[in-house]
Amino acid sequence: MIVTYSKNVFIPVTRMCRNRCHYCGFRRDEWDLMDFQDVEVILLRAKRASEALFTFGERADQFKSVKEWLRKKGFKTFVDYVVELNKLALSYGLLPHTNAGILKKNELKKLKKWNASMGLMLEQVVELECHSESPGKKPERRLRAIKNAGKLEIPFTTGILIGIGESKEDRFYSLETISDVAKNYGHIQEVIIQNFSPKKGTKMENWKEPELKEMIECVRYAREILPPDVAVQVPPNLVDDVKVLIDAGANDLGGLSEITPDYINPEHPWPSLEKIERSLKGEYVLRERLPIHPKYVVEGWYSMEIAWLIEAYSDEEGYRC
Ligand code: SF4
Repeated sequence: MIVTYSKNVFIPVTRMCRNRCHYCGFRRDEWDLMDFQDVEVILLRAKRASEALFTFGERADQFKSVKEWLRKKGFKTFVDYVVELNKLALSYGLLPHTNAGILKKNELKKLKKWNASMGLMLEQVVELECHSESPGKKPERRLRAIKNAGKLEIPFTTGILIGIGESKEDRFYSLETISDVAKNYGHIQEVIIQNFSPKKGTKMENWKEPELKEMIECVRYAREILPPDVAVQVPPNLVDDVKVLIDAGANDLGGLSEITPDYINPEHPWPSLEKIERSLKGEYVLRERLPIHPKYVVEGWYSMEIAWLIEAYSDEEGYRC
């Protein structure tokens, strides 16, 4: 069986965020926005990566300081700035994957042209205490954005975060909801099963991480109910034994970076490909993919604007050549 991954650079464009999730160690109150030069420094070091993963706090444009900055730089909206960053990544030979929180349909449409894929974690489809100060974590809002991406035929990444106060039934219900969306719209390329990892200084710093058996249970259920061509992704830096999750049905390891840390979980460095390969004991074949999964490459789910790069980087099966 093939297990896929992509080589990326992680670009935390802004940590300013309208939400205050109780487990988050990424969010900042103070000014935190990368300009072109900051992004360029990362792009210049990208080596053989094919993906520029643009990550954001949600709706940073609700901060007065950000609005003012955008105005001074001549951008009408935050998304217009993101488009320019996407174009910059493309000029360095990197395919953008933008993960900007909830976006409106017209914003998704603007970004679609310049992105190989986009993403938004559903997290859980039920209301939880840890999201009580996070208007953007209302499940119906997130679902609407994920469905809008489906209407626009954007190859899309979503997933669940487990261990944040939900029950086993909630987890399964969240996966069933994602599975229904995947079947209805056909745009879900991968579903991440991510385990909560406590961060110092947050309201949930003393919470226990979910156990490996809970991860296995979720991966198994996801594999059972998702359409077979939707990848089940697990984060290799957040679990000690990734092979048991692959044995349970996971077949994707997400983006791995040789030069940038996981800014969301900086205390968990990426394992090297060699280490992952050794842990798979020859039972699985590791294959590099682009941020757009092979099926969507073959079916041509990408715009004219980025076709040149996708076609230069992919083989006839849609994997990275
Ligand atoms: S987890 Fe994401 S949405 Fe929640 S506070 Fe942190 S950056 Fe904002």
